[in-house]
Amino acid sequence: MGTGALPELQDPGRGEAADCVFCAIVAGTAPASVIYDDAEVLAFLDIRPVTPGHLLVIPKRHAPLLADLDEATGAPVFRVAMRLARAVRASGLRCEGINLFLADGEAAGQEVFHTHLHVIPRFAGDGFRIDADWGSVMPPRAELDAIAAQLRDAYEAFRIDEVSSLDP
Ligand SMILES: [Zn+2]
Repeated sequence: MGTGALPELQDPGRGEAADCVFCAIVAGTAPASVIYDDAEVLAFLDIRPVTPGHLLVIPKRHAPLLADLDEATGAPVFRVAMRLARAVRASGLRCEGINLFLADGEAAGQEVFHTHLHVIPRFAGDGFRIDADWGSVMPPRAELDAIAAQLRDAYEAFRIDEVSSLDP
């Protein structure tokens, strides 16, 4: 998946995708318990919450994957998530910590292909988990450096593409 726009993003309108439940929520044709609404961003409660107050922040424009979301829209999504994380902590709901979680791609656990950022209230014993062997492998520095070089190369190539596609 490159950084190029998918066909629906080339539409002059919002890029609403048929059969996308989040686009239906944005359009007002599907119900949601809305917390925040502006021109670009919508936030509403997850209907299958990990903990009470678990909410989703979405760009109103349909973007299936993170790479389909332009940076100018991604920034306000994160800004709203930061503000709502503060609101969750102040709300009186049980909240001893917060996880921000974004699943990009099926292998990452994405289920609704309209990019969304989870804001999840956390507390001891809440049952939330991401299974991984955290910290069980510590590669040698040479291996870390080789991977970092590979990623720097990919990032530089991406930046060249990105600069040429910004502000059309
Ligand atoms: Zn959508």
